[in-house]
Amino acid sequence: MHDQDPSTFGEFGEFDPSPEPPAAHAKVLRDELVAAAEWAARYLSELPQGPVARPLPAQLRSRLRAGQLPQRGGELGEVLDFVRDEIAPYPTGNGHPAFFAWVNSPPAPAGIVADLLACAVNATCGMGENALMDLERGTVRMLADLAGLPDSAGGVLTSGGSMANLLALATARTWFLTRRGSADGPAYDRDHARLTLYYSAQAHMSVAKAAACVGLPAHRLRPVATDPHDRLDPAALRAAVTADLDAGLLPFCTVTTLGTTATGAVDPLEPVTDLCRSAGMWHHADGAWGGLGASVPALAPHYAGVGGVDSLTVDPHKTLSVPVGCGALLVPDPEHLHTAFAHQASYLTAGEPDALPWLSHATIELTRPGTRALALWATLHHLGRDGVTGLIEHYLALAAELRERITAEPRLQLLSGGPWPVACFRITDPYGNAPDALHTRVARRVQDNGRAYLATVAVHGRTVLRAALCNYRTTTDDLDLLIREVLHAAER
Ligand SMILES: *Cc1c(COP(=O)(O)O)cnc(C)c1O
Repeated sequence: MHDQDPSTFGEFGEFDPSPEPPAAHAKVLRDELVAAAEWAARYLSELPQGPVARPLPAQLRSRLRAGQLPQRGGELGEVLDFVRDEIAPYPTGNGHPAFFAWVNSPPAPAGIVADLLACAVNATCGMGENALMDLERGTVRMLADLAGLPDSAGGVLTSGGSMANLLALATARTWFLTRRGSADGPAYDRDHARLTLYYSAQAHMSVAKAAACVGLPAHRLRPVATDPHDRLDPAALRAAVTADLDAGLLPFCTVTTLGTTATGAVDPLEPVTDLCRSAGMWHHADGAWGGLGASVPALAPHYAGVGGVDSLTVDPHKTLSVPVGCGALLVPDPEHLHTAFAHQASYLTAGEPDALPWLSHATIELTRPGTRALALWATLHHLGRDGVTGLIEHYLALAAELRERITAEPRLQLLSGGPWPVACFRITDPYGNAPDALHTRVARRVQDNGRAYLATVAVHGRTVLRAALCNYRTTTDDLDLLIREVLHAAER
């Protein structure tokens, strides 16, 4: 796209290195950054006019998968050409305002700018003190405040909610065994084999996956029954813990969910914290979607007691539209993270004796991207506290509108859900129960038509259509479009 003269390759140009290092002439780099920025701005502004998603041509798919590295390097300008022609036309669709599947947001404008700048700075938020690492400590504080955790709270940013849940279970396990004096030795072997984990039957699958990663077998996992509103039933939890204690097992942690994936339910927090305290268990709350609900007046009543949890997952790349790759684990007492993760090495020692622990001492990762902290800071700074509340309230209002439209449409049947902004619904069948397969087919047809996008989920044993509201570009026109598309797909 742009010619570049290899003899002027940055500061390395003079000694004719072979192969050429990846430096670029300052003017070439500048031109490419400007071209990329102009393209990205146009792409984002034109995105709503195009289809939500389109099928990837088979030839392109094979080419992308082949992974053949050419012998000679290419030109810088080819990156933009490649993205424009071969990647951007085939997205998941979550940038589009008519995308309603899963909980996948579009990127926030401030986050897009910040991601680029953070890449240029390329600070690692793992070791060594630098401004971005302090910014990460600060953004973690902002999240903790929004979540309603105490002033003492700290934590780390992660790649997402799954990684945060994994850190939480590893931390809970270390905390529990350390308190029993069985963090190592024969006592470890004896106790670890008896660790038992509780979570609601509506919990995200990443919780069971995290349990497997920390070495808990499936028969030490206890999915607990939920009430008619899909919330964990504290009485059922208490019964399960009591039975396991009687059987000589070691209940060590309960995971509540704030914003369940299927219907957006919030588990009761205070009764679970009470039980955890009395049974010596850790209370982890998985708020990947709904962790910041305490900052929204309409949701706050569901969050009574949130400050009493031992750890909390939040996913700024869901609720806040921070570009993908930004989750967080928040803990009222950050020392628990250091007990679990601060492994020492001669080549990694903090300089000042009174320095804060590096962030690598609070997580699994050592070299960690500064993009998370900067994109999170930029997004929060652009929104402000009022903007965060306003954004979530906007999604709640859209969900209420969508539920109204579904209720008003005789060919659709709304199922109960919430308080998080989701609508689960089924096709009305005057002759009886519309089969599950019909709903799977309808979702697929809507996806294939490319004008809107939604997915199915199982609720109380039935397949239902599910629309999540987490796109700040979605308008009521998109809600009307979704209903039209579903009805059209159901008619065929
Ligand atoms: C999305 C989600 C996760 C997983 O988060 P990722 O960022 O996708 O890894 C975990 N728990 C809940 C409740 C979620 O909604």
